[in-house]
Amino acid sequence: MENIKELKNLLSIPKDIAITSHRNPDGDAIGSSLAVYHFLKRHGHSVSVIFPSEYPDNFAWMPDADKILIHDIEPEDANNVLKRADIIFALDYNALDRVDKMGEVIAPLKSTKVLIDHHLYPENFADFVLSDTTASSTCELIYDFLEMLDEKKGIDITVGECMMTGILTDTGSFKYSTSPKLFRIVADLLERGVDDYVIQDLIFNSLTEKQLRILGHVLDNRMEILNDYKTGIFTLTKKDYEHFDIQRGDTEGIVNYLLMLKNVKVAVFIHEQPTIVKISMRSKGDFSVQEICRKYFRGGGHKNASGGASYSSLSATVNKFKKLLPDYKAQLDAL
Ligand code: 5GP
Ligand code: MN
Repeated sequence: MENIKELKNLLSIPKDIAITSHRNPDGDAIGSSLAVYHFLKRHGHSVSVIFPSEYPDNFAWMPDADKILIHDIEPEDANNVLKRADIIFALDYNALDRVDKMGEVIAPLKSTKVLIDHHLYPENFADFVLSDTTASSTCELIYDFLEMLDEKKGIDITVGECMMTGILTDTGSFKYSTSPKLFRIVADLLERGVDDYVIQDLIFNSLTEKQLRILGHVLDNRMEILNDYKTGIFTLTKKDYEHFDIQRGDTEGIVNYLLMLKNVKVAVFIHEQPTIVKISMRSKGDFSVQEICRKYFRGGGHKNASGGASYSSLSATVNKFKKLLPDYKAQLDAL
């Protein structure tokens, strides 16, 4: 962020600030949003966090998570907060279609927009941009951002715990996208009093019995392994959703189980939602699921973790995906 001094000046006087993140917010979306929220509040700003849709229950413990406005539930209040904001932060997303109807509200606003994100191909809608696709998480970039503002002292335990949450979830507890820089940041957070064990326990050991049974069902009945393509597919049907009463968040992280198979390098989770079929993809090594999601499923994300959607049936979507695989055979063989 070259013009950081200008932003620092803007933030030197109390402002009305709205912090936004993407649909189906994950730990990094919530962690980065609440980290910035608590930091700015302590500096006397009037701050609100707005998400397009609800966040999973395992983040409800986070300080002030209950104050987050959900656009799906309270569209008018959320729109009013956006419209009166002097500054809008866009965290953990880089394209306005990731915030659905909120995007149409945000786009024409004259407010100052600040984008902090680590996804590929940022759209050009913000006045201040900190976009780094090599970062593990947006939370890692929030640390950089506070450092640029000369405000590392503003990282108290609450802000640090929020940052730790996004780092832990986006790196799969330090399994992916790590770097010496990230571990230095984490060491600093621990020195400031953040307890990584407690946070891991709160986030990850919080499954409901239902969620563990859904996982069992998927593993037993809804898994297909295409060994020739080093690819694994999980599916969930509308009937499964009804039978298990699956809610948003109940399937969080399921796709990663496929990567525990020795021969699987590409993991795909295709599930039927009320109006769309949602796709989550993960890969290992030099294979871009971002390309597949972007080209064929109107989505995007990161090279090794992306998502998208399809407007045909579940089986048609699975077939569409399988038909793509021969084109990628040489790439898959090289993995
Ligand atoms: P997940 O599979 O956990 O939903 O998402 C994995 C990654 O892909 C996340 O970084 C997320 O932001 C991105 N992603 C998921 N769904 C979509 C989508 O529909 N469009 C785009 N552009 N990115 C997505
Ligand atoms: Mn993220």
